[in-house]
Amino acid sequence: MSERPRSFSKFREVQTELERSGSAIFRDAEGVESLIVRSPYSINYIHSYAEDSAFFLGLAEGRLRGSKCRRPKCGFVYGTPRGHCMVCGAPTEWVDLPSKGRVHSWTTCHFGSEAFLKETPYNLALVEFDGVGSLLLVRLKDCVESDLYVGMPIEARFDPNPKYSITDVWFVPSR
Ligand SMILES: [Zn+2]
Repeated sequence: MSERPRSFSKFREVQTELERSGSAIFRDAEGVESLIVRSPYSINYIHSYAEDSAFFLGLAEGRLRGSKCRRPKCGFVYGTPRGHCMVCGAPTEWVDLPSKGRVHSWTTCHFGSEAFLKETPYNLALVEFDGVGSLLLVRLKDCVESDLYVGMPIEARFDPNPKYSITDVWFVPSR
């Protein structure tokens, strides 16, 4: 018979024990014991970008791409690409966005999903570009919250080792 898992009243200690042995008992304030086990879990998520593919392939080439309404009378340009125009409903085509823009607004995130936890606090900005009718939401690096202001000039940077993810692009203050 194997030994009974060790019992702890602090969850942090349970986590440490799970790392060590794979099982532990958490004893709550009322004395209720919960057996907790650690099971490896992994998943390969297969995802098609379909008509958004050109955006992510563009990031890997150091190009930031938006879309433009094909209807000449409309011609609305989107900073966040759209397959169809939200103004008139016509299909759009890919266009290159400027690599420089301005901060339209921003937020500082003190919590984030797992991919961004190590970077907290980090800044997210809505970027406006000359000649573009909608905004792009991206991370803003190499600056702290107190540096930021509406209208601040910023420019794009691209990951030299692209992951085909929105994290392949971020902006920094223009120098
Ligand atoms: Zn349109």
